[in-house]
Amino acid sequence: MAAFRVTYATLSADDDELQASYDTAVETARLGLGAFHPLRVGTHETVSADSFATRSPIDNDVVVGVFAEAAAADVDDAVTCAAEAFAEWSSTPWRERVAILDRVADLISDRSVEHAAHMAWENGKNRLEALGEVEEAADLIRYYTHAMVEHDGFDVPMERFSEAEATRDVMRPYGVWGVIAPFNYPAALVAGPAGAALVAGNTVVIKPSEIGSLCGDLTYDAFVDGGVPPGVINLVTGAGDQAGAALVGDNRLGGLTFTGSSGVGMSIIHAFSSSHPRPAICEMGGKNPVIVAASADLDLAVEGTARAAFGFAGQKCSAASRVFVDERVIDEFVARLVARAEAIPLTSPLHKGGYLSPVVDQAALDRFEAVIADARLTGEVLTGGERLTDGHHAAGNYVAPTVVRVPDDSTVWTTELFMPLIAVRSVKSLDEALERANAVPFGLTAGLFAGEQAEIDRFLDTIEAGVVYINREAGATTGAWPGVQPFGGWKRSGTAGKAGGGPYYIQQYMREQSRTIVTHE
Ligand code: NAD
Repeated sequence: MAAFRVTYATLSADDDELQASYDTAVETARLGLGAFHPLRVGTHETVSADSFATRSPIDNDVVVGVFAEAAAADVDDAVTCAAEAFAEWSSTPWRERVAILDRVADLISDRSVEHAAHMAWENGKNRLEALGEVEEAADLIRYYTHAMVEHDGFDVPMERFSEAEATRDVMRPYGVWGVIAPFNYPAALVAGPAGAALVAGNTVVIKPSEIGSLCGDLTYDAFVDGGVPPGVINLVTGAGDQAGAALVGDNRLGGLTFTGSSGVGMSIIHAFSSSHPRPAICEMGGKNPVIVAASADLDLAVEGTARAAFGFAGQKCSAASRVFVDERVIDEFVARLVARAEAIPLTSPLHKGGYLSPVVDQAALDRFEAVIADARLTGEVLTGGERLTDGHHAAGNYVAPTVVRVPDDSTVWTTELFMPLIAVRSVKSLDEALERANAVPFGLTAGLFAGEQAEIDRFLDTIEAGVVYINREAGATTGAWPGVQPFGGWKRSGTAGKAGGGPYYIQQYMREQSRTIVTHE
């Protein structure tokens, strides 16, 4: 099939062949669901004593898979295998590692339709989001191999004191690198950190989300099929507080990349360096604001806000969940946003044109219902607020895209909810909007819609967020792409001053060594 790349920014796939092959892949994936998946430790496929099953949020009757539940001893084995594989992998010439990982990226792209269809069943992504994510997984790896080449393997000759003494500054891998990933980007946030760690010369132990275990498995397969030896890469499935905690607690790890909620991430940041300093790259939650100035083009503002709030049912770290609108245009903006939310197609996310995803599990449904009950009591639900149960929705975890007005002291303004719900509020000025936007502990993404350059400058100078967008219809706060819009959070949203998919990311997976050699005649 001719290569056709879906990205979050294009979010269109007007390619009949692609659509037809996706339809087939959804059916083929369905037939294979429910299988047992062992751990991938060294060269073995390990069957642990316990296992767990996951169900599709699209149809709760569908068992996605049964996965081996890693105990602490299994995680210990995986780290041992990775530690034993380190000497050979780290001394493999970096150009060979780059070639292997470029093959992995190409394999991920080649398998994107099949992988995306499995992802749809596993976490409920619609086809464009799922295809986009698998391509993102490949592009993150390509970006990191490119960075390695661009820096010529990070080996730099330094000034000399004398002819007899020569110093080189080299970047060396740490050793075993842990990768803990969330459910909402189960391919990209396994492949990206693992790819960066591996090309830098580390070996890897991956712990995917329980609800991302199938995608974790498929991503592991692409790495191994592309030429990364088993043992250099290992995969343990299981619970966060068991397999994840065992990985974090293993003192043999040289470093760790965690992507997930702020609560877990902050505890990892506190615990990980308790015995000695070790990098823990933690990318965490958001509470992302959109600001709409009176000078804004409201067509762009409504479209960009709706996409950012309701894409993947609001289950993106970058999702917009707060919008501050100049009081002169709020009535028109809200009326249009409500109409836009109500026009979202209700087709299944498995089908062409399907947009609305389910929320991931019963706990998310319960959270939605509690938030709505409170919003009805203290404020106003402008649209949505119900669970959807008609037709194909009956089998899954669907809720209507929701817009609310709630009082300033509502936790809706401060807590990451991870649901298709956005709160709106009027402001008197851009400065008031900025003050409110910054008044949360998070600082991941933010968007502005404005027509005046001075407003744009003021926003860029003042907003506390790692990823910012101006007048972006494709997603007011969402849709970063590796090599185009690097992605990392400020404040409680992340440790990365050096954002994923950006020019300073891969260096975090290596430590500097200054090598001086003296020649004696
Ligand atoms: P989560 O924190 O519940 O889980 C993330 C991962 O951590 C999972 O693999 C889980 O099993 C593991 N885990 C849980 N408890 C652990 C523990 N005690 N020790 C070690 N590991 C543990 O997050 P989630 O619900 O899977 O994902 C959604 C969250 O991820 C949201 O907060 C979202 O904002 C965040 N996220 C952030 C980014 C980013 O780039 N900043 C990207 C995607 C998702």
